[in-house]
Amino acid sequence: MTSKSLLDSVAVLPGVGPKKLQALHELKIETINDLLHYFPFRYDDLKVKALDEVIDQEKVTLKGIVVAPPVVSRFGRGKNRLNVRLLIDHAAIVVTFFNQPWLKDKFDTGAEVAVYGKWDAKRKSMTGMKVLAIKNDVSPEFASIYSVSKSIHQTTLVKLIRAAYDDYADLIVDVLPPALITKYRLVTEQQVIHGMHFPKTQAEADAARRTAIFEEFFLFQMAIQLLKKREQAPEQGLAIHYDNQKLRAFIQTLPFELTKAQKRVVNEICRDLKSPQHMNRLLQGDVGSGKTIVAALVMYAAITAGYQTALMAPTEILAEQHYKNLQQLFADFDVQVALLTGSIKGKARQAILSDLAAGKIDMIIGTHALIQTGVDFAKLGLAITDEQHRFGVNQRRVLRQKGYRPDILAMTATPIPRTLAITAFGEMDVSTIDELPAGRIPIKTSWVRSNQVANALSFIETELAKGSQAYIVTPLIEESESMDLKNAQAVFTKMQAAFAPTYQVGLLHGQLKNDEKDQVMQAFKANQFQVLVATTVIEVGVDVPNATAMLIFDADRFGLSQLHQLRGRIGRGQAASFCILVADPKNQNGIERMETMVATNDGFQVSQKDLELRGPGDVLGEKQSGMPEFKVADPVADYRALEAAQIEAQTLVMTADWQQQPANKVLAAYLDAQEQNYQNLD
Ligand code: ADP
Ligand code: MG
Repeated sequence: MTSKSLLDSVAVLPGVGPKKLQALHELKIETINDLLHYFPFRYDDLKVKALDEVIDQEKVTLKGIVVAPPVVSRFGRGKNRLNVRLLIDHAAIVVTFFNQPWLKDKFDTGAEVAVYGKWDAKRKSMTGMKVLAIKNDVSPEFASIYSVSKSIHQTTLVKLIRAAYDDYADLIVDVLPPALITKYRLVTEQQVIHGMHFPKTQAEADAARRTAIFEEFFLFQMAIQLLKKREQAPEQGLAIHYDNQKLRAFIQTLPFELTKAQKRVVNEICRDLKSPQHMNRLLQGDVGSGKTIVAALVMYAAITAGYQTALMAPTEILAEQHYKNLQQLFADFDVQVALLTGSIKGKARQAILSDLAAGKIDMIIGTHALIQTGVDFAKLGLAITDEQHRFGVNQRRVLRQKGYRPDILAMTATPIPRTLAITAFGEMDVSTIDELPAGRIPIKTSWVRSNQVANALSFIETELAKGSQAYIVTPLIEESESMDLKNAQAVFTKMQAAFAPTYQVGLLHGQLKNDEKDQVMQAFKANQFQVLVATTVIEVGVDVPNATAMLIFDADRFGLSQLHQLRGRIGRGQAASFCILVADPKNQNGIERMETMVATNDGFQVSQKDLELRGPGDVLGEKQSGMPEFKVADPVADYRALEAAQIEAQTLVMTADWQQQPANKVLAAYLDAQEQNYQNLD
């Protein structure tokens, strides 16, 4: 006879045949353990309330006396409603059930009943959802509600979970080390399962949820910290012994003094370069905080130690801009800088590739395709990604397969709130530039309605009259690129009408070829035209310090982080800059976004608000989010638990032989099994 295990298939439960098995499989429930961890997404409060406590549209349980036999009436095709009158205290109310005529038998005149449903305060009536048994004291206060599919019912799922719990409760063990359960006053795993599915009281439900949240964060953090530890193992990295003398000399040649924050992060990164540990670091800083120069300095450091470096940008415009800046910056130094993008083809491309493989190029700038498309390095020591992208585990694997173990630095466009950084970038060390170069004048942002555009434009004109330049950002049309273009062209025509002949207007949109985009940008930079009408192509990184005004049409169509990025294109020079948002937001969320933009210039505050309004995926952008999905926990609402879980995981992973300690046995086995799963996914 085989012994029972939580890993038994749900097929062992009574009533689970092939059909139910398939339905459960679709919910990703295979084992008893999966089923026990399939938690409800909400609870209906079944506590009986007094009529005067109930607010309109609230879902609530009411208790009353049936005054008269219920009446079933038909309407429409095959539809019916059951009306029953109840006396509650001294008020008479009507409860209506749709299409459940059989409930008639549950309402004996004169009997006391409890019904659960949605209260309509105006009509003094309830749309009934359930008739509850009145069994005094033992009836639960909550009903667990699960997300189910067409092929399996709430009630069936509840029965199965109950059956699984009754049969297997004894086998449920604590994954969390007992010391943590005590320290954070958590409950046992068995209590978690019980309290999540069948809470008798609010207190029981709360305790279970609190533990489930901590556990989910902790297991996630353990996985991340273990990954980090493996990646940082000394034999995995390079010790880049750069020439400090040369680095200092180079810094002397810069046209400005580095900010304190820049110096600090350069030191942090250089320490990592020197150390034999593998560097995997995130550099974050608000728009305009001067990340590029930091990248240049640390690349130069690696080059002085004889290594090659790569800088990757999300767009060709940005790559080219970096290339030009860096080439200029290193003009008087012995540094070979090269550009490799999709537009560089044929012989030119071949020449760069062979120089790179021969070690003749020290610094290669390109788009993110750089590390993937048959590019070989002689001695790659440091790889940097600029804006938006990070090295995923997969990209690191690509590099490793090519035999490279460069130190890695990811620079992010979006300042990331701490809680989000812990989750999405938990395996990375973080350096933060929390200060803008001196002398920057904060951008003044205002929000106007669309009927005030004329005023806004004449304000822009006064800026142009001072010799400044302006961006006009066209609305975001998410459905189609061709609509985007049509829109941009329409705005372009209007702006020409508004500003010509005194000022020239240019147009930049996503459907231009890369060299065309580049031409437009260069012309704008050279002040050949003063107004640039643009779609979001200008969103990241573009640097034209003479532009001091920006007007964004339909600003409420953009997310907060995106607006902040757009706004970051101005305020880059010595003159005051102005951003005007034109929007007629249709909902509270839109209003809050506009108000946030007006209220703050601080990217960290903006992204914190964005996180609250839209959630993590949107703040980081789909592609790069890498945000794990949590079942119970919410990294925003539960950030304290998240921070505690991170600290505990870090501490445990640093403890020698933690896997061998009896208290951690279950945890270690669990993480091992999970690790196997990951590897099977490759
Ligand atoms: P971001 O962090 O948004 O990528 P950039 O690297 O593009 O910012 O820098 C923005 C501008 O600030 C650039 O024109 C750059 O030359 C300038 N800059 C960078 N560091 C300093 C500094 N310490 N003092 C003055 N200007 C600086
Ligand atoms: Mg930048």
